[in-house]
Amino acid sequence: MTPRSWDGGWYEARPRRAVEGGVVVTKPGTVTGELAAEMVAAAEMETSSAILARGRTYARAGQVVALEVEEGRFSAQIQGSASEPYRVSLLRTVISGSDRIAADCSCPYGCDHGWCKHAAALAYVAAHLLDTQGATVVAWTGDDGGVPSGGGGTDGEAGRLSEEDLATLRQSAPVLDAAALLAAAEELVPHPWGMGGG
Ligand SMILES: [Zn+2]
Repeated sequence: MTPRSWDGGWYEARPRRAVEGGVVVTKPGTVTGELAAEMVAAAEMETSSAILARGRTYARAGQVVALEVEEGRFSAQIQGSASEPYRVSLLRTVISGSDRIAADCSCPYGCDHGWCKHAAALAYVAAHLLDTQGATVVAWTGDDGGVPSGGGGTDGEAGRLSEEDLATLRQSAPVLDAAALLAAAEELVPHPWGMGGG
């Protein structure tokens, strides 16, 4: 790449772009819990020490953004050298009867022949979250450990119907006509999608 002039001087193109809102892991790879250790071990098994080091650099710099976790799956975007962030995900899977973690990334390197640095970075961030956030553990394992959900806690929810509104809706319920119910509901609260021609 040709260096570009900037402010009267020259600078080298940065290898990464600065991002905000990323998960910053100050000591990637330093884990305590079993789930976090499994995640780091998977990364170490699937790629080289050089790529692991790059992954730790991303994790320390907070380059892992838009992270989502669901049962058996972490996904995130990672701002690398390209203008668009790469999409990377880690999936818990079973290979030859043993639990493994598979990686997938939209970068040119990909993860078919060993994880790329983005997958490694996500693994370090995921391990950190598994160690520090109970909610992440519940989401990743799909096991809430039998903790009661608390139930009924809808306080403060936007657009919530009042007791009076609910009573009116209950009176309408025996009609069992979706259109009529919607019409009744729209008299109480404006339809959020502006449908119904009202
Ligand atoms: Zn990648």
